[in-house]
Amino acid sequence: MAGSFLHIRRWLLVPALATTMGCSVLRTSDGPRLDPPAMLPSTPEAPPAPLGVKPKKSPVTAPARDVYRFSQFVFYSDFELDRSSPLFAELEELRDQVFRELALPPSNTVVQVFLFEDFGKYRDYMQSRYPELPRRRAFFISQPRANGGADDLLVYTYWGDHIRQDLRHELTHALLHSVLREVPLWLDEGLAEYFELPPNFQHVNRNHLDDMRRDEFRPNLPRLEGLTQVDQMKQPEYREAWAWVHWMLRGSPEGRAELLTYLQQLRHVPGPGPLAPRLASVFANPGQALNQHLARLIVGQPMPATATTMGTGGNPPPLTPVGSVGQPVSNNARNR
Ligand SMILES: [Zn+2]
Repeated sequence: MAGSFLHIRRWLLVPALATTMGCSVLRTSDGPRLDPPAMLPSTPEAPPAPLGVKPKKSPVTAPARDVYRFSQFVFYSDFELDRSSPLFAELEELRDQVFRELALPPSNTVVQVFLFEDFGKYRDYMQSRYPELPRRRAFFISQPRANGGADDLLVYTYWGDHIRQDLRHELTHALLHSVLREVPLWLDEGLAEYFELPPNFQHVNRNHLDDMRRDEFRPNLPRLEGLTQVDQMKQPEYREAWAWVHWMLRGSPEGRAELLTYLQQLRHVPGPGPLAPRLASVFANPGQALNQHLARLIVGQPMPATATTMGTGGNPPPLTPVGSVGQPVSNNARNR
């Protein structure tokens, strides 16, 4: 959607790994995204709000006590950040990992991250500034700038028990939107689910696997690609999106090639169409291949010790345990 005729494109809710919601994505534009020279935003206060969300003035202010810029990210926080925290090094590596694994050109578009000290402050700010938004742990918002050019890429969240996964998830969205002209709904969430887990999880979401095994998973990519509204995306759809991405990137060199080719087209080609027919031209039965891949993951090995902490000095939140990591598949030899 171009020009000033903006609208809220969609909400994406991630029922993620726990009973609480992981994130929401708000898009306000379908326009192409450019890569202008990296610029430090002049102020973190009151970023422009998407039309339709009706931001309101409030005594609650955006985090501004500390500003920490590294890599492609600028963190604004209302508490002092521990710059030596391994979390920041991990997020910098995440950026490299996303672009490297997806064979995408690195972007220098700034991603602004507004990090509140606790949920209460975060909630108060979001409710006062974006009162229409539902309560979620984190948001990614892509919104056009008043003077045109690339969208502002904004992440809002707070320092809580899920900070590591939430930041990895939301920043994956931001990184994708910094280089792709278009990000299909299912693929956007599938990739964010894939990259939200730290590297030693091998991108294996044990909760997703357990749910799929219990609920008799029946993959249907054409159906998934046909979903255009966020409220059509429920927990099973997020699981399936993750599964397709994991199979393509970790279970099949041919599938990976198709996905990477598709991503290159999403950089430049408007409306490149669905991915399912491309997979169907390579695999006799893509769904069967996916299920075989998942079966190998389900019988995976116990997860190595991963409960590292990413504290900011005195307040280290643990990584939420996810489960056991899957058995690496034998034909995964591309991404290390
Ligand atoms: Zn998401």
